Amino acid sequence: MPTKLSESLRQHFPFFSSTQSEQCVYLDNAATSQKLQRVIDVTQQYYQERSVNVHRSSHQLAACVTEQFEQSRKTIQRFIGAKSHKEIVWTKGATESINLVASGLAKSYIKPGDSILVSALEHHANIVPWQQIAQTHNLQLKVMPVDSLGVLKLQASLELIDENTALVAIGHVSNALGNINPIADIINKAKQLGALTLIDGTQAVSHLAVNVQQLNCDFYVFSGHKMFGPTGIGVLYGKYHLLEQLPAYQLGGEMIKKVSFTDTTFQPPPLKFEAGTPNIAGVLGLSVACEFIQQHRDTFLQLEDHLYQQLLATLAEIPQVKLWGDKINSICIQSFTVEGVSHYDLAVLLDKRNIAVRAGHHCAMPLMHELSIDGTIRVSLAAYNSSQDIITFGAALKECIGFLSDSNVNSAEQAIATLATNAQLNQPMPIAESIQKAKSWDQTYRQLMLAGKSLIRLDPQYKTEGSAVHGCESQVWLRCRLEHGKLVLEGDSPSKIVRGLLAVIFETLSGKTTNQILEFNLAEYLVDLNLGKHLSESRGNGLSAVVNKIVAYCQLHNSEQ
Ligand code: PMP
Repeated sequence: MPTKLSESLRQHFPFFSSTQSEQCVYLDNAATSQKLQRVIDVTQQYYQERSVNVHRSSHQLAACVTEQFEQSRKTIQRFIGAKSHKEIVWTKGATESINLVASGLAKSYIKPGDSILVSALEHHANIVPWQQIAQTHNLQLKVMPVDSLGVLKLQASLELIDENTALVAIGHVSNALGNINPIADIINKAKQLGALTLIDGTQAVSHLAVNVQQLNCDFYVFSGHKMFGPTGIGVLYGKYHLLEQLPAYQLGGEMIKKVSFTDTTFQPPPLKFEAGTPNIAGVLGLSVACEFIQQHRDTFLQLEDHLYQQLLATLAEIPQVKLWGDKINSICIQSFTVEGVSHYDLAVLLDKRNIAVRAGHHCAMPLMHELSIDGTIRVSLAAYNSSQDIITFGAALKECIGFLSDSNVNSAEQAIATLATNAQLNQPMPIAESIQKAKSWDQTYRQLMLAGKSLIRLDPQYKTEGSAVHGCESQVWLRCRLEHGKLVLEGDSPSKIVRGLLAVIFETLSGKTTNQILEFNLAEYLVDLNLGKHLSESRGNGLSAVVNKIVAYCQLHNSEQ
């Protein structure tokens, strides 16, 4: 029964029938979801057949699209149970919604000595705006704690809410761990003490039915792209009287009533917050996505629960796997680590098997710090995932863990030995050559892992913020120095693959002068070795950050010479 349901649901998502993506097992839905055919149709129709502006021109087409645009507000109102469609503000996404509230409250409501409360589970989008205004307005930023698995400690959190709390900002669902937070209790306590509440519903709205009036929160935010809708569109819900008090966020056309060179009057909410031409196609697409979710809510819940239980059972079969977060009060997201295996290495190898998961801190660095880990693998499901997706994932995960476990490096040694024999009897082969000779991606990774073993590893005392290379989902440290005018490189990483990549770079750059290095095209060299993938600017790939750090060091010391 669930298989049939998920098959019929998949038909609404063209991703699953495109030849390029049909091989992909997509388990990264918390980063962004696949898009509904209807969403694509309505946005395409807007661009193809009715590309006009809203709220400006009075011709028929503009009036028709403006009507559709405003009807969409009513769809969102119904979707989250708001009292009025005037409480629905269009934004670029959850991030902009939170920034809008934070900057408005900073100008109008918050006073020195107040505190703002966030939870340890928050996405950076629900930390940084508050931290910034706390710093500039002399406020205290307090953090609701989590237990050793990352579950919110409710009692301790409630105790932090007091008369000085100006606002409590908390995610409805944690994007990193999938926990459903006890927001009703938190909102209740905040109300009793007169604090405002902002709920980040970005990971919640496509999985849980939300009613903002029942919740009695003051603000609720989410993004369209995580709920089968377009990117670049999101929602800020705010109680109308609060939106009225909140100052405008951006100034310009659309949000004004009357402008002269001496004065301007603004529109009432929500238009007061919608300066400039909005993302019209995005609004129309998001509205269709909400209707779809609302229509299929029960089916979604049934499918997601079935898949999540299957995922938990699959992960439970692997003894080295440690699960993080709450497995009962959870949506279908599961984060885990594997003892002795770097999450980065696992994600790279899963990707090679066409399995898309997310690895790293999931934009929740403070949470990872609280849990004393440098990241997790996160599997985030959606109702359109199939049981087969989880079976394929489970088998691949076991294979990858086997590949990365130490005993398999011995087979990597054998592989390199064979290659070496083919090349030059009993001569250790340079790393670059061994990688060039690898005949498949798994041979390449075996060689890399073996190369990593020869890396001169950085003494732990040098693993500091100064030597940390940021930009990779794995931790990386790099130390450059000059000895008699020649570059000496040392580095380390918990990732075997990254250690291998460092060894490749060190092999070719160590012992060269800064001038030689600046003349050497390292990026081209790595592309020649088929390692270009690791140079991309994506957050998951840190090699370009390593390369940039070496080049910057050489530039600095070259000019000093
Ligand atoms: N909050 C949460 C819980 C999220 O998961 C995300 C996106 N990962 C955001 C906020 C930010 O959303 P956006 O990038 O769409 O603005």
